[in-house]
Amino acid sequence: MYPTAVSAPMRNYRGRFAPSPSGPLHFGSLVAAVGSFLDAKINQGKWLVRIEDIDTTRIVKGADSDILHTLERFALHWDEEVVYQTQRLNLYQSYVDSLLSKQLVYGCRCTRKQIKAAGGLYLGHCKHLNHNIEHGAIRLMQCHATNQFTDLIQGQINIDDALAKEDYLIKRSDGLFAYQLVVVIDDIEQQINRVVRGADLINPTARQISLFKQFDNAVPQYAHLPLAVAEPGFKLSKQNHAQSIANQHPQQTLMQALAFLGLPTPPQLLDLTTEQMIGWATEHFSLSRVPKVAEIQI
Ligand code: GLU
Ligand code: ZN
Repeated sequence: MYPTAVSAPMRNYRGRFAPSPSGPLHFGSLVAAVGSFLDAKINQGKWLVRIEDIDTTRIVKGADSDILHTLERFALHWDEEVVYQTQRLNLYQSYVDSLLSKQLVYGCRCTRKQIKAAGGLYLGHCKHLNHNIEHGAIRLMQCHATNQFTDLIQGQINIDDALAKEDYLIKRSDGLFAYQLVVVIDDIEQQINRVVRGADLINPTARQISLFKQFDNAVPQYAHLPLAVAEPGFKLSKQNHAQSIANQHPQQTLMQALAFLGLPTPPQLLDLTTEQMIGWATEHFSLSRVPKVAEIQI
């Protein structure tokens, strides 16, 4: 029905799916899992799964195994061992220490309320105040401000200059490492060279790119998939109680996810196993089919 994708595969492709275990997979996160999996596989690459449980205030007990179980049910089999962020705190600290030894970080005592009152962006208030960094939030001095990058799906992305230059948090006031920091350290350590994920993470990508540069590391390619939204501007998420896909008919849901990614499937595929459906999709998927929009209403 479709010609098999012919573009030359990327060499030594390493991609990943990085769910936060704050609840079961929903349709939006399944799309990210399927899209990143298929892109890795058409490039004969590795697809890793990383459980992003760094924000322990948001994790739900058992959600990690629930997510992994659902991935298996959809025939999304990962390569290498699953990584858990909470087991890598020493690693993250060693990166912070390296920034510390270069005097690139400083303590910040600003509250969210103060920053909001100043217009929403942190403007450098604590930069020269020499706060103790043993306790409280830590910011990184921005030396590699990035206000532009090219996304493989969404095209050229421009980020507001003031946002690009912001000294952002790498450790939160509650002592937890910030997502922005650990996601980059993990991508470096796991040698990820292409990130395929939902378009809700398009703006933070500029910060992440600046951090790869800060750590003298090659920047991965980025491909941001359209976000599944319930209404314009409202992504399906665990927070707004998007329906868990765990109990739905997997073939049907997988077919919807493939159609969402620009790969409508012949109806007879519904009679196959998810394993066979994924096998078929692996031969027909291409990033170039994915609609070049930031969100799709479902
Ligand atoms: N853990 C993040 C989330 O579930 C995704 C991070 C990423 O893919 O870079 O939203
Ligand atoms: Zn401050």
